[in-house]
Amino acid sequence: MREIRRIVIVGGGTAGWMTAAALALRLLGKDGEARWSLQLIESDEIGIVGVGEATIPPIRNFNAFIGLDEDEFLRETGGSFKLGIEFVDWGERGERYMHAFGDVGRPLDALPFHQHWLRLGAPGSLADYSLNNQAALAGRFMRPRPEMAGSPLAGIAYAFHFDASRYAALLRRHAEAAGVQRTEGRIARVERDDGSGHIRRLVLQGGQVVDGDFFIDCSGLHALLIDKALGVPFEDWSHWLPCDRAWAVPTASCGPLLPFTRATAQESGWQWRIPLQHRTGNGHVFASAFVDEATARETLLSQLEGEALAEPRIIRFRTGRRREAWVGNCVAIGLSSGFLEPLESTSIHLIQSAILRLIELLPDTEFASANAAEYNRQFAAEMESVRDFIILHYKLTRRGDSPFWRHCRDMAVPESLWARMDLFAAAGHLDRRGQELFSEPSWLQVFVGQGLRPRGHHPLAELSARPRAQAFVDDVRTVVRRCVEVMPSHADFIAAHCAAP
Ligand SMILES: Cc1cc2nc3c(=O)[nH]c(=O)nc-3n(C[C@H](O)[C@H](O)[C@H](O)COP(=O)(O)OP(=O)(O)OC[C@H]3O[C@@H](n4cnc5c(N)ncnc54)[C@H](O)[C@@H]3O)c2cc1C
Repeated sequence: MREIRRIVIVGGGTAGWMTAAALALRLLGKDGEARWSLQLIESDEIGIVGVGEATIPPIRNFNAFIGLDEDEFLRETGGSFKLGIEFVDWGERGERYMHAFGDVGRPLDALPFHQHWLRLGAPGSLADYSLNNQAALAGRFMRPRPEMAGSPLAGIAYAFHFDASRYAALLRRHAEAAGVQRTEGRIARVERDDGSGHIRRLVLQGGQVVDGDFFIDCSGLHALLIDKALGVPFEDWSHWLPCDRAWAVPTASCGPLLPFTRATAQESGWQWRIPLQHRTGNGHVFASAFVDEATARETLLSQLEGEALAEPRIIRFRTGRRREAWVGNCVAIGLSSGFLEPLESTSIHLIQSAILRLIELLPDTEFASANAAEYNRQFAAEMESVRDFIILHYKLTRRGDSPFWRHCRDMAVPESLWARMDLFAAAGHLDRRGQELFSEPSWLQVFVGQGLRPRGHHPLAELSARPRAQAFVDDVRTVVRRCVEVMPSHADFIAAHCAAP
């Protein structure tokens, strides 16, 4: 076996620096530095995409993995806590619901909570039974208290909002301290081996040459290696996910610091609102087949809640994925490997899981095709399951007030999603497949939130005596309310633990 020795990461955005920090930790510790070198190339002139400020709970595992202290991370990035995403005007104009992290209720008689709820005629709103949902609406937050076993407070699930540029800078400091070498410059040429087709070296503008054994393409939407050098085809999913542009603009903070992201449906797309400590991130994601860029810009500016702090910036993208993310001696991580649009804040998570997958399947110089094949299989499965979850939000709209929403409502969706929708519509069955990212409570909240009420419920729910089931459901609602009452406000929690300087 011959080890790969020189690993080159192209790109210093969130993907590049997350990869560098994690690989440095796993490869350069102990006597690793003698075996491997890690070099990252980024171009200040090109810059980073600079969005990507909302996350989902597994980010906490990544930060812990690379040894980031959570309070320090929040102070450094001006970050805030996130308990879920509120969807406004998605099912129908005037409606709102939350996809909150964590559980909705708890099981009874070996059946999930929602089966009893359905059997009782769906009393109240599903939101009443989710601690995260109620805490978010009340603007409250605290970290879980594992010692309070049996209470919802023991397992509060949360993620973060943060400033993407500051996160990249923080990761860079960690990665450089762990031995990653950074090179600034614009890559002008990629040279490949005539026989194997493997990438051999990168030539920077100005002539500097960087040789490597293994290359990680974190060059974002430029996809410098995986696309421009290797020509790996892109599987286009825009017929299911038609949004392909975003205007982004920061505003001054106004109103209370909310512990959730808001996604408000617009005529031809939707608008995000991400509260940070020092500003609010806003963006209008839209489909250029349905609205022109100038009109979309006006829509964004007319809906802002605070004073704009900069000129809006446009980002153009395509939804879909690379047919293969790993080819030969190159693996693409981050936007270069594909993008699903920002609706459920999954992109940073996909970076994180790609890094862990790469560490698990780390190649030697033989570059066994089995490693790449397994990597690509997992990559495809993960992207497709997240894709289906995002499509669901569009497909389940009942809006018919604009061509965009009529298109979404009437479009055909992947077979895999149809099957899930049918299953839920019949008797509320939720089927988590393998290790997929979104678990049953996530699918449940979106199905119900978008207005799909199952025709029936699980027959076994009838075995629980109705008064007992009713008392159980009422108790869950009361416990949730009481738990929220003891939580501090989000703003007070941040002031006490992790206020940015
Ligand atoms: C509108 C929008 C909103 C988003 N919102 C979210 C969100 O809320 N949550 C989430 O998880 N994700 C979100 N994402 C995705 C998220 O922004 C990205 O996954 C994340 O920022 C990683 O980007 P990246 O590092 O792959 O690319 P980039 O940040 O673009 O970095 C690319 C790097 O490659 C370098 N580079 C490129 N070409 C060259 C060259 N020739 N020579 C040298 N260097 C080069 C650049 O200098 C840069 O350093 C969003 C994306 C978009 C488009």
